[in-house]
Amino acid sequence: MSCLFCKIIAREIPSDIVFENDHALAFRDIHPAAPTHVLVIPKKHVHGIAEAEEGDVEALGQVLLAARAVAAREKLEGGFRLAINNGPDAGQTVFHLHVHVLGGRAMSWPPG
Ligand code: AMP
Ligand code: ZN
Repeated sequence: MSCLFCKIIAREIPSDIVFENDHALAFRDIHPAAPTHVLVIPKKHVHGIAEAEEGDVEALGQVLLAARAVAAREKLEGGFRLAINNGPDAGQTVFHLHVHVLGGRAMSWPPG
């Protein structure tokens, strides 16, 4: 298994886990871009949003619900942003689908 985030799920690589259930895992980003910066991933390996298929609907929905749980636990009452980077122009660097949960500061729009 060569996928970094699959290794995090398997506990082969340590991470600071903030939420876990049967479908999703959430852990703090190693290079935080906001006071709260958590990555939420499906336990099922999905390469990226561009590769997601009908059979991934459950995994995708569970990831969004897990992101909601993370935002609540992190007390992001002022708001938060969910981001999915896909492909080189968006700066995707890890090819296991992940939702960035960013909060704890005001976000600018549009993103850079
Ligand atoms: P992306 O650029 O959307 O593919 O996001 C990948 C994210 O994974 C980046 O924000 C990295 O800082 C983060 N990252 C890479 N390796 C690790 C790791 N071992 N633990 C936690 N976050 C990581
Ligand atoms: Zn993976």
